[in-house]
Amino acid sequence: MSGVPLRRAAILAVGSELLMTSRLDTNSLFITNALNSIGIEVVFKSVIGDDRGELGDQFAHALRRVDLVVLTGGLGPTDDDLTREVVAEQLQRRLTEDVGITEAIRKRFESRGWKMPEINRRQAMVPAGATVVANPNGTAPGLWIEHGEKGVLLVPGPPREMKPMVEQMVSDRLRARAGGVLLVRRVLKIAGRSESRVEEITQPVYGRWREQQPPIETTILAVPGQIELHLSARGSDARQLAAALAAGIRQIAEVLPHDLFSDDGRSLEEVVGELLRERGWRIALAESCSGGLATSRLTDVSGSSAYVDRSVVAYSNDAKTEWLGVDSELIAVHGAVSEPVAEAMAVGVRERARVEVAVAITGIAGPTGGTDAKPVGMVCIAVTTPQATTVRTFKFPGNRELVKTFAAFTAIDMVRRLLLDAPPNADWIQK
Ligand code: AMP
Ligand code: MG
Repeated sequence: MSGVPLRRAAILAVGSELLMTSRLDTNSLFITNALNSIGIEVVFKSVIGDDRGELGDQFAHALRRVDLVVLTGGLGPTDDDLTREVVAEQLQRRLTEDVGITEAIRKRFESRGWKMPEINRRQAMVPAGATVVANPNGTAPGLWIEHGEKGVLLVPGPPREMKPMVEQMVSDRLRARAGGVLLVRRVLKIAGRSESRVEEITQPVYGRWREQQPPIETTILAVPGQIELHLSARGSDARQLAAALAAGIRQIAEVLPHDLFSDDGRSLEEVVGELLRERGWRIALAESCSGGLATSRLTDVSGSSAYVDRSVVAYSNDAKTEWLGVDSELIAVHGAVSEPVAEAMAVGVRERARVEVAVAITGIAGPTGGTDAKPVGMVCIAVTTPQATTVRTFKFPGNRELVKTFAAFTAIDMVRRLLLDAPPNADWIQK
């Protein structure tokens, strides 16, 4: 085994479906993260169809350019799965059947009462000198090949098979070969602020981090409703890196005390779910323009049945009246998109559900239906408990889908702020 450290990697995502518009290569993102965590940098990646010539060329190029080539996909049993063969050919290694693998695949089929199709034998073909990487979630094993000073890793395409195999390799063989430089990342998530405001507030803080030891690199990224600060530090001492990032996070929390809601990867709905769970509170929702999106997000969290009681999608005025008890006079006087109606929807669903907290959303998602007084993107959101109600009007930017996304996110964030007694989010409020 070579002692030269692996520092630069390329990822080749193989599969003709990845070149169409319906499937996106997401495996390379996961693999990049895993490699970065042990200080291996991904210097390029490619998406390649199930094409022998293209795959051969791209692989040969990658092997010349980097220390580690990771291939994902094309390890299935069918004729269009070529990765194993092409890699063996390029490395001039003979493929032979590993009967141990054939038997393991046969057993996998038999355990389900099926007979192994003969074509699955292809998945037991191993290039000379390769190490087999077990696949706990499927038939196609992975392969690890040390080729001179370089490393080649083959993993299957289905994400649930690929992920544990890459994790296993990274925590074991690859870490040992990675040269000891670590890259540690933390993602901070911020709600209720625009990207430029976050930049304005945090730049004086993170601007100093480049000069310190170890330096911290920072990038800002906007996802609808949420701004993310990605912090990364490079070095050889894991504890020192973790401490430097933790100190950085504390400084950001000081300047954005109520808006920074996650520093450990948790989503807004997970954070709010935990707050509700801690208090033993249940929530109900009444959604108009968001069409159930806020409820959908809250229920994306496993275990959310502990605190999500019910949700009413009350799109029409009649629905608001019949299901939530909103006074039709109120709608006639103020319009369906108004703070009094948002409040009445929230109180209506809270009383009917007999829960501790309720949130209601009513707005104009567009692109039609806007007026000068009530433009597209105007959304009223109310949060209510038996003690207090907060109602706010926002003007969200973007198309219909974005307005719905902003509305759902902001509604959940208003619940978070209510639970934490934090001031309302500042940047979107219409005045
Ligand atoms: P495979 O048989 O190994 O080529 O992969 C089978 C399935 O895995 C494909 O149909 C995709 O659904 C999924 N898949 C393959 N490559 C990727 C990728 N790079 N990112 C996400 N999914 C993938
Ligand atoms: Mg494929």
